[in-house]
Amino acid sequence: MGEVVQLKRKKVLDKHKGNTLCRSGFHRWMIIKKQQFDVKQGKLITVYQCTRCQKTKNRLL
Ligand SMILES: [Zn+2]
Repeated sequence: MGEVVQLKRKKVLDKHKGNTLCRSGFHRWMIIKKQQFDVKQGKLITVYQCTRCQKTKNRLL
């Protein structure tokens, strides 16, 4: 079982080189949309995207 996990990890590492920080939870956030209005929450939010893995997150102002 341990071997299978290691194999998977190696594959991911090859695919996303330099994404080790991302996978550890340290993303490189960059603002892609400043003060966008979120209809669901009825508030202004700022949208961030990681420059390495393209993951996005919203932050309430
Ligand atoms: Zn990332």
